Parts: sequence; C-alpha cells; structure tokens
Amino acid sequence: MRVLLVEDDNLLGDGIKTGLQQQDYIVEWLQDGQAAVLAIGHEDYDVVVLDLGLPKLPGIEVLKQMRTLGKTVPVLILTAQDSIDDRVNGLDAGADDYLTKPFDLDELYARLRALIRRSSGRAEVVIRHGDIELNPASHQVYQAGQLVDLSRREFAVLQELMENSGRVMSRVRLEQGLYGLGEEVESNALEVYVHHLRKKLGSKLIRTIRGVGYMVDKAVY
Ligand code: CA
Repeated sequence: MRVLLVEDDNLLGDGIKTGLQQQDYIVEWLQDGQAAVLAIGHEDYDVVVLDLGLPKLPGIEVLKQMRTLGKTVPVLILTAQDSIDDRVNGLDAGADDYLTKPFDLDELYARLRALIRRSSGRAEVVIRHGDIELNPASHQVYQAGQLVDLSRREFAVLQELMENSGRVMSRVRLEQGLYGLGEEVESNALEVYVHHLRKKLGSKLIRTIRGVGYMVDKAVY
C-alpha cells in the first residue's frame, strides 16, 4: 500500500514516515503543498495523509485542487488541536477523516486501514476470497481456518491483489509495493513471490494476465 505523507514539520514527518514503514506501507514524504498537488496528479496512492498548515500551498487548497482534478484517493487531514474551523473546512473540501495533533500513531494506523477498507468497498475488516482470509491489521493470512506462513513480501503482493480483486494489477504497480521493504527487488522477484503464493495457497487464486501482470478474480458468494 502506498501512502503520500504531506507534512512540513521535520520531526513529526520523520516519525510518521518511520512508523508507517514499520507497518509495511511504502511512504512518499513531501513537505509543501505544491509538490503534493503535482505528485497526486502523476502517481497512484492508496491513501494521503495531509497536514493543513503547509508552505507554498495550504493543505486545504491541495485538497480542493485534487478533488477538482477528479482524484478520489482517500485523504486524512492533520489539524491543530483548537481548530474546529479547520476540521469542518477540511471535511467540506473532500477530506475523508481527520486527526488532531498530537495524536497516537496507533490511531493513525487504524484510521488509515479503515480508509483503505472503505475505498475498496469493503465493510469487513478482513479481506476474504473463497476459504482465504487476509487480515491487514494483524498481517496474517488464514486458509480454511489454518494460519498460512507468508513472508512480508509475499503478504504485500497478496494484499495488493486481494484489495483490488477483479482488476488486473500491472507488474509495475505490484513491484512498487515491494520497494521499501528492505533489500533491492530483483527483476524476477515478483514471479518468485507469486510462485510461492501459489504453492502455499493453491494455483487457482492468482491468475497470470500475459504481458500485463496478475489478478485475483472478484470473489462470488
Ligand atoms: Ca504544518
């Protein structure tokens, strides 16, 4: 999952970035509003964490401009403690949630999981497909009630595919989700993770879409 963090405070930005990386998010951290609008226009993020008090372009303007551009990515705004106006204006301008500074990182993680869940149209906390259950909060996967042992990268690939079931995920997009999880990504790494996932979870779950990437079919119940 890719997060765009827009926060001009060095200490806070660094803390949030490090925390999110430990939660296996791929984090891009920008420190001004103009850079944020540019990035949102060009890149695909799963969620945006947006401070309102920013240099060059205030967060509220970033929000208005990106919504005008038709960008529907969920946005959580960070507001100052005493500013009810900020919160109201932010939500009116298209923010999906807010956190008041100072906040606990665990609360940020939980709110981001909820936003990603809602944006993928999922009401439940876990993602299900047939007898497979993936829990984004605990980073665990169960098949027919049995815990399946997956590496962090196997989990990251599977989560991306299951969150986007019914859509073909390009190799580039899936590989982006692997960068930032430590070592370099080798050219055939993605195939290797998919191979491992098929061995562990059965060969039918992940389909190869030749020349494009991979997909998990939308679950039918
Ligand atoms: Ca600020």
